[in-house]
Amino acid sequence: PKIHIGMATCGIASGAIETKKAFEEALAEQNIEAQIHTVGCVGHCYAEPIVIIDHPASGFPPVFYHEVTAGKAKMLTKLFLAEGDPRFEHVYGATEENELIPSVMEFPRFNQEKRVVMEKCGRIDPEDIYDYIAESGYSSLVKALQLKPEEIIREVQESGLRGRGGAGFPTGRKWELARQARGENKIIICNADEGDPGAYMDRTILESNPHQVLEGMILCAYAVGAGNATVYVRAEYPLAVKTVTRAIQQAKELRLLGKGILGTDFDLEINVFRGSGAFVCGEETALIQSIEGHRGTPQHRPPYPVERGLRGQPTVINNVKTLASVPQILNHGAAWYRSIGTESSPGTAIFSVVGSVVHPGLVEIPMGVTLRTLIFDICGGIPNKKKFKAVQIGGPSGGCLPADFLDTPIDFDSLTEAGAMMGSGGMVVMDEDSCVVDVSRYFLDFTQKESCGKCTFCRVGTYHLLSILERLTKGEGKEGDLEQLENLSLDIKNGSLCGLGKTAPNPVLTSLRYFRDEYEAHVSEKR
Ligand code: SF4
Repeated sequence: PKIHIGMATCGIASGAIETKKAFEEALAEQNIEAQIHTVGCVGHCYAEPIVIIDHPASGFPPVFYHEVTAGKAKMLTKLFLAEGDPRFEHVYGATEENELIPSVMEFPRFNQEKRVVMEKCGRIDPEDIYDYIAESGYSSLVKALQLKPEEIIREVQESGLRGRGGAGFPTGRKWELARQARGENKIIICNADEGDPGAYMDRTILESNPHQVLEGMILCAYAVGAGNATVYVRAEYPLAVKTVTRAIQQAKELRLLGKGILGTDFDLEINVFRGSGAFVCGEETALIQSIEGHRGTPQHRPPYPVERGLRGQPTVINNVKTLASVPQILNHGAAWYRSIGTESSPGTAIFSVVGSVVHPGLVEIPMGVTLRTLIFDICGGIPNKKKFKAVQIGGPSGGCLPADFLDTPIDFDSLTEAGAMMGSGGMVVMDEDSCVVDVSRYFLDFTQKESCGKCTFCRVGTYHLLSILERLTKGEGKEGDLEQLENLSLDIKNGSLCGLGKTAPNPVLTSLRYFRDEYEAHVSEKR
């Protein structure tokens, strides 16, 4: 038997270390031979610690158990592994008679997801490169090294892959521009400076399957002609830093990195840079400043980083999810990737769905799935029979959409049209008890603190915007506050240099558009 235990941050925070220890002790006490296999996050963060027991001799498919505390681990060892009885009160979906025991892939939520980036997350040991290789990891690199760099770029272009960091710029086009740019020492940067409240997709991918990200980086470097690469990951993600650092070491030992990759004359070094946790450093030019040892402030563009980036060299900066998509595209082909999602947004989207949902966690869906399907069918809807009120999509830069938009397809263009944005994938669901004015205040408080201070409108404007929102939430609103919120928001958007300032007022503007009566109630203190 094999016992898979989820040991990403979500699992550890819920007690997975104690669960693992309990299994080890129980197996030893009962003299049972079973392999403990530590894996990353399977996406069902609400159910951690998650344990999947694969016991072929029992005649059952792998069984998914959730909330396996140390005590339950001992019980499971006795019931299932010693006595061959998989029935257990915490089997997901079990009836009273414990008849229904879903195998992992029959788990209801998997049917509506499409795992491309997260395919191996929660299945492989992120600290074991051979686990990744056994699941056809690094096979796209082997394939790619037999192709010309231009052919790889063409494949990525034909796939229609758009950057998953938020802006949705075509990835193949970015790579082509970098390939054409003049520069002896081109550089690749994996942007893992995820910092939106409620978003943790990039952290989870790095913790659960770092090799797929590294493979994407190697493919990108080969395609554009780069010899150096950096994973820029925030220092508050210690497990991700450790996992990716170890993965780099392992890849080097197998000559998948370093000098003469797989016997070719292609060399690539990848290092890890730990960011200090400034949200604005997710912006490309600020990120470059940060690596160069300067204060992380955005710079005027052009020149764009693909022309003149880190240390003046052409630099491709791609998000974790973008890079992790590339090995799958090269393995299965551009046409396969295009067959997923929509015409203008091919592929999948990963969201961390948090807030008022029954099953919060990480979800990977084909683009084009509606908000309703994601929130109600996949994430179980709103708990305690409460009503859905709104969803904040795209983090502090995104928009707040009401119930009328539940049938909006999730893709770059539809969300922008609705007044929100894809962002990097944070999604906060609110029920009827949430106050949208308070939610706007929360996001403004975040962006105001994270403003680098370079532009007056962003630095001072967000301060005033926040002050008005604070007054409103305290019931101290005045006549004219709403007009001032709107005017100030537009001024901040127009007068800011980078995306942080340009999008900071979005939560206020969208919630004002869709929940104006709630703001008015605050002004007249009717609430
Ligand atoms: Fe800094 Fe804000 Fe200006 Fe961006 S918009 S450069 S965060 S002050």
